[in-house]
Amino acid sequence: MIQTVKTIPELRERLGVWRVQGDSIGLVPTMGALHDGHLSLVRLSKQKTARTVATLFINPAQFGPNEDLDQYPRDIAQDKAKLEAEDCDLLFLPDGGEIYPPGHVTKVRVEGICDILEGEFRPGFFTGVATVVTKLLLQALPDIAVFGEKDYQQLQVIKRLVRDLDIPVVVEAAPTVRETDGLAMASRNAYLTPKERDIAPVLFGTLSQVAENVGRGVSAKDQAQWGREQLERAGFGKIDYLTVRNAETLEEVDNASSPARVLVAAWLGKARLIDNVAV
Ligand code: AMP
Repeated sequence: MIQTVKTIPELRERLGVWRVQGDSIGLVPTMGALHDGHLSLVRLSKQKTARTVATLFINPAQFGPNEDLDQYPRDIAQDKAKLEAEDCDLLFLPDGGEIYPPGHVTKVRVEGICDILEGEFRPGFFTGVATVVTKLLLQALPDIAVFGEKDYQQLQVIKRLVRDLDIPVVVEAAPTVRETDGLAMASRNAYLTPKERDIAPVLFGTLSQVAENVGRGVSAKDQAQWGREQLERAGFGKIDYLTVRNAETLEEVDNASSPARVLVAAWLGKARLIDNVAV
């Protein structure tokens, strides 16, 4: 079974041995309930580095008081088996007290980009993410760290904090892995009923069409409005946002003169689905 460490000193000791051997190290942070999207990050890391460390920590700091921390899917035995099958070198599986010991008060807040889109609908979410990712990067000091484009805004936040704090790591972005019908793989897809699961692929279909039309020069605002109507018609509940943004700053754009991204967050039953595609 995959080697597992639970404490920061053990993690550092293992990685120290590899580093002395001259092995490069890749880090893949996750919250578990692993699916093929997560495993694609492990594969990318393995292509680029000699050693790959996955981390599994359901970070309470990135859940709001009314969010799904308690219901979030957990299956550590299966996660370990999946990592083992990918030949991942090490799993870092800290408990809450290891990451946030009593008296922990320091937070990493990335101004601006933290407050829009996901940040608007999930206040404190990105500060929770930025804090835990900074800690994991400093604990492991990997050569690369791999994050999925599925969480596109999160990826931009992490790139920003790595630049701003001069953390010596290369952030690698992995493309979104989808089910055959287009639905982006996500641990929270488990919340969908069979009927909702049938509707869910409309999200990616709509985004793709918006991206294509905006790429052809149609107004981004009009297309976003059209996209929201499509989702409502298909049976989605509240649409937190469906918007076309600058691909790096995530500021609003009305045409695709610079690289742009269509981003969406929408509710389907109990599941809040997010997705994004390039224009
Ligand atoms: P999570 O466990 O949801 O926090 O995700 C851990 C990492 O896996 C993050 O970098 C996510 O962006 C990435 N990830 C999650 N789902 C996918 C997917 N469908 N395709 C690619 N990466 C993903």
